[in-house]
Amino acid sequence: MGEQWGFYFDTNKCMGCSACAIACKNRHGAEAGGVDWRRVERVSSGEFPDYNEQNVSLSCMHCADAPCEKVCPTNAIEKRESDGIVTIDRDKCIGCKYCGWACPYGAPQYGDEGLMQKCNLCLDKGPGSGADAPSKNDQEDPLEPACVDECVGDALHAGPISELMDLASQAAADRYANDQTSVIVEPPNNDATAENASNSIITPFNAGD
Ligand code: SF4
Ligand code: SF4
Repeated sequence: MGEQWGFYFDTNKCMGCSACAIACKNRHGAEAGGVDWRRVERVSSGEFPDYNEQNVSLSCMHCADAPCEKVCPTNAIEKRESDGIVTIDRDKCIGCKYCGWACPYGAPQYGDEGLMQKCNLCLDKGPGSGADAPSKNDQEDPLEPACVDECVGDALHAGPISELMDLASQAAADRYANDQTSVIVEPPNNDATAENASNSIITPFNAGD
């Protein structure tokens, strides 16, 4: 497989402003209140006085062994060999929602047109799936995802995993090595309670609707 592309997210820098989610909607033509290819959640853990909250910016995790791909009855979902990005081909999707139920993160979204859609790491700028776009690895100047472009706190980055690893702490790298996603998550600094909150960032919590 070509080199895996993914995201790097630093919990310590995210301010919860949702600029990433709004930028994503703007780029891909989604209306306010409509589908969310990216969303910002507030994750809490512990009890007073050891209570902690973290902002978490979430999109498709471009999983290594994608559960959504396995359940799709029309083979509309593909974990691309060329760059590891998971796409939903809307010409093949029949809107059965199986992928939404299978995804632990609630990433595939049911759109007005009756088809599923989700983050494609900005393979293109439009509302489409990007399924036919050339590999990010083969593009001379790959499009920077809108969420990364507009992140006010510099909390989000995207690229080949080997490059993202240059940003990662040992703790983030260790977590990634034991994970099945293509998102490197930087845990909170120096706080065990916050660390617990952050752990739920990559813990499946939403099976879609
Ligand atoms: S996060 Fe969900 S939609 Fe994305 S690859 Fe994993 S299972 Fe599929
Ligand atoms: S990478 Fe692109 S599609 Fe994915 S959340 Fe960011 S802006 Fe949206």
